[in-house]
Amino acid sequence: MLDWFVVGAGFAGSVIAERLASQRGDSVLVIDRRSHLGGNAYDRLDASGILIHQYGPHIFHTNSDAIVQYLSNFTEWRPYEHRVLASVDGQLLPIPINRTTINRLYGLSLTTEEDVEAFYAAQAEQVADIATSEDVVVSRVGRDLYEKFFRGYTRKQWGLDPSELDRSVTARVPARTNDDDRYFLDKFQAMPLHGYSRMFDRMLNHPNIAVMLETDYEEIRRSIPARNVIYTGAIDEYFGYCFGRLPYRSLRFEHLTCDCEWYQPVAVVNYPQDKPFTRITEYKHLTGQNHPRTSLTFEYPCDSGDPYYPIPRQDNQELYNRYRQLAEQTENVRFVGRLATYRYYNMDQIVGQALAEFRRIQGEFPPCAEP
Ligand code: FAD
Repeated sequence: MLDWFVVGAGFAGSVIAERLASQRGDSVLVIDRRSHLGGNAYDRLDASGILIHQYGPHIFHTNSDAIVQYLSNFTEWRPYEHRVLASVDGQLLPIPINRTTINRLYGLSLTTEEDVEAFYAAQAEQVADIATSEDVVVSRVGRDLYEKFFRGYTRKQWGLDPSELDRSVTARVPARTNDDDRYFLDKFQAMPLHGYSRMFDRMLNHPNIAVMLETDYEEIRRSIPARNVIYTGAIDEYFGYCFGRLPYRSLRFEHLTCDCEWYQPVAVVNYPQDKPFTRITEYKHLTGQNHPRTSLTFEYPCDSGDPYYPIPRQDNQELYNRYRQLAEQTENVRFVGRLATYRYYNMDQIVGQALAEFRRIQGEFPPCAEP
């Protein structure tokens, strides 16, 4: 009998599988219904030989030395600081909004941080009770910036007006007063040197780990006995949607290659105003690949399709809590990862969650002492 049956070969499942096999010598089967490892972080060479991310751009960033150290067992890194521009009123402007954005958008020449803070304060609207996402933004930067940068993007992203979304969706508006145009401020920002898929291959390349792709848990759960299960799929699916489906927002990705060396000045350009897609990614900026052509992905948010973003509303959280209670009563199954916990997490957070789960397993089942 197998020691562990791991459902899902994304970060959550792969990290736990690797730890169980390499640190405990346990036998592990990893399955995934997709045809590849890596979950949503999967990357591949397209028909032109350009490395692209199948499920949209994945940029690694973290403040945790322990997580970098752990992943560095399986990859080297390419230093990369992510920068995003927004196409607004015919210009490409830094997002998060910063001093450059304000000066270029309004033809100003604000020089000090105090000037920029005073500008935001003069635009900001008084909102007595900050309840919605719209309230969060207009009370910080005013209605014009809200309309230009946030409203259209949010409507496309969530299919709802910011006035209908909980304040937690935009908990904090990153409106900077300096010229820092980095998208993330974490101390470690980098891309796996040879891509995510190579990193996952190395992580799962262990004699105690078997992998089955294009295999659904439902198909084989009864035919392969295992002492314990790590389940990183959707929690409502595990329980047969017995309380109803947890709502998700999905994305349609349109991948294409252009006959030019470069298409846009940075890896990601957001389209908060007129286009039906939310953003365009150009991968060579992320990967540093040299190639005479360039590959892009257009992202179109939609209601149906693979589950990507849990919809952050109170009633959805309550529905999740009912599934979580069932999960807590389910013996020998551990629910780990973004789909199993119905929450958006970055990759580093999922690695942290998986490593923490492994430490709990070590506590509950101490490895056999050496003879
Ligand atoms: P997943 O990667 O989704 O892996 C779960 C796997 O389980 C999937 O492969 C699925 O096929 C499999 N599975 C599910 N159910 C079953 C079943 N019943 N049987 C068999 N297999 C099953 N994070 C960042 O840090 N930086 C970024 O720039 C970033 N960009 C993102 C962009 C987009 C568009 C999205 C949607 C997410 C982004 N993320 C980013 C978040 C990142 O994708 C997640 O943190 C990470 O993928 C979560 O890993 P996971 O293992 O929990 O889930």
